[in-house]
Amino acid sequence: MDETSFDAIITINAKGLVQSFNPAAERLFGYSEGEVVGRNVKMLMPTHFRTEHDKYIANYLQTGEKRIIGIGRVVTGEKKGGAIFPIELSVGESRIDGAQVFVGFIRDLTEIQSEQRRVQELQRELFHVSRLGEMGQVVSGLAHEVNQPLAAIMNYLQVARNMVDGKQGEIAPIGDVLEKATAQTKRAADIVKRLRAFIDRRETERRQENLATLIDEALALGIVGQVGQATHVRLQLTAGLPRVNVDRVQIQQVIVNLLRNAVDAMEHQKNRELTISSAMDGADLVHVSVSDIGPGISPEIADKLFGAFVTTKEEGMGVGLSICKAIVENHGGRIWFTPNDGGGTTFHFTIPIEEPATATAAR
Ligand code: ADP
Repeated sequence: MDETSFDAIITINAKGLVQSFNPAAERLFGYSEGEVVGRNVKMLMPTHFRTEHDKYIANYLQTGEKRIIGIGRVVTGEKKGGAIFPIELSVGESRIDGAQVFVGFIRDLTEIQSEQRRVQELQRELFHVSRLGEMGQVVSGLAHEVNQPLAAIMNYLQVARNMVDGKQGEIAPIGDVLEKATAQTKRAADIVKRLRAFIDRRETERRQENLATLIDEALALGIVGQVGQATHVRLQLTAGLPRVNVDRVQIQQVIVNLLRNAVDAMEHQKNRELTISSAMDGADLVHVSVSDIGPGISPEIADKLFGAFVTTKEEGMGVGLSICKAIVENHGGRIWFTPNDGGGTTFHFTIPIEEPATATAAR
């Protein structure tokens, strides 16, 4: 048995008494070889298996029925001190000096099990994300409700305008005020309309979309109330870009995510600048970038940034960029980031256009 063995290896005789206990087994179970050799291997099992084990061996020797030999199973072991931990156990049979021995190969599953827990966590978080989708539905319903009173307000305003129309004297300026009120109400109705279109889950198929419109809408809706007066937003959209075949809602989710990250990154600084650009990248890719003048990406997370649950924010879930990556790659594009010369970060993504630029540009 080699001293550097990765697996713990334990041999026992037909009575279940330990014959050898390698260094990996010592590390795994916390016993020294001397503490175990000559004793029944049951001592390495949780109590409820101990009584069974003698029966297992006896049964096998009598009937040849294999329950674990050559099969391998996931079971629990018990360390010195009583801690129970998951192991993968496979057992082989051999003869040493004419005597029958069983050789147990044991792999610690603690890590692997925690990876599974990670998977479960991942699923939970994704459910949370889809609950956010459900929230979208609630907002959609709410928008519908708000639409009706807005329409009523528009009507009343129209009536009032008719009443003061052509009137002279003190009452005359009211017409002007009513007109402004109408314009604002219409604006509110437009926002609600776009909000509904934005989150409406029925519109999740791919269509030929104008990227500029899509970016503009994402900007308007995605960072409502977040940007404030303090952030200077610059739009550098190249005119006449070909349309792209995308799921609008999903691509807007990507943009909104990038915008929010940029806004978050600049939260603690006085000067905040956000630049959103779109341009051709070669003949068949449209390139979108979102640039900030924040502190940049922390080096410790830079290389795993697009993985799930990577976050430096107290309230962050760390799934934003991993969702962005999934969406962009689903569309046949790529997402990455570059540090800015003067500080800050630029996130880039590309979306392939399906037809040559000249064929679609005119539409
Ligand atoms: P979350 O926003 O929940 O943290 P994300 O996946 O959106 O999850 O982002 C992961 C992490 O990447 C953020 O916590 C932040 O540390 C970093 N990050 C993303 N965008 C920027 C940016 N523009 N500037 C600096 N750090 C950023």
